[in-house]
Amino acid sequence: MKTTPRIRREYWNQPTMNWWERMYLFEVMRGLGITGGVFLRNMGKWITGRKGALTTYYPEETRFDYAAGNRGKHILTQRPDGRPQCIACNLCATVCPAKVIEIEAGFDPDDKAHPKFPARFEIDYSRCVFCGMCVEACPEDAIRMVKEVPGLPTDDRSRLWLGKEELLRWQPARNAAKPYPPGPSGTGEAP
Ligand code: SF4
Ligand code: SF4
Repeated sequence: MKTTPRIRREYWNQPTMNWWERMYLFEVMRGLGITGGVFLRNMGKWITGRKGALTTYYPEETRFDYAAGNRGKHILTQRPDGRPQCIACNLCATVCPAKVIEIEAGFDPDDKAHPKFPARFEIDYSRCVFCGMCVEACPEDAIRMVKEVPGLPTDDRSRLWLGKEELLRWQPARNAAKPYPPGPSGTGEAP
C-alpha cells in the first residue's frame, strides 16, 4: 500500500508553503503591493478630502466617541468629607497582574472608623493593562475606572505615574445603579 510521506512540523501551527511561497521574493512583492495599494487609496482620499484616510491626530485631537464600556482612567472615590474611601488594604495592589499600584498606608488615630488611609497611592500608567481587576478586588468600592482618558503621551516615563491627587480629581458620572457618594457640600455632587 502506498502511503503519503508525513511532513514533520517544527511547531503545531507551522504553515505549509508551496514552492512559490518558499521563494519568498514573490510573497514579498505581493505584500508590498498590498501596502502600496492601501497607501495610494488613503492618499487619494486625503487629497480629495474624503473621510477615512487618516486617524485622529492624537494627542492634538481627542476623540469623544469611545465605547460606552471603555474604562481608561482610575478614580479614587471619596467620602462625603472629601477624604479617599480607600482603607489602604493593598488588595488592589496585590491582585494587579502588572504590579503597577503602589500604596503607602498612613494612620489617623482620630478617625476611629477608618484609621488607615492611603498616604501615597500611585498607579504607573506605562504598565497598566486596564484589566479592571483592581476595581473588582476592592472591598470598599474605593477605586473605579471611568470612561475618561488620561493625557498619556509623554517622552518621560516618570510622568506616567498618576498620584493620589490626580486620582481623586474625578469626573463624577451619574450612575443611578451605583451612585457616587455625595460631595462635601451636601449638594449631592461629588467634589
Ligand atoms: S487595571 Fe489591571 S493592570 Fe491596571 S492597575 Fe488595575 S489591576 Fe493593575
Ligand atoms: S483601593 Fe480598595 S483594594 Fe485598593 S487599597 Fe484601597 S481599599 Fe484596598
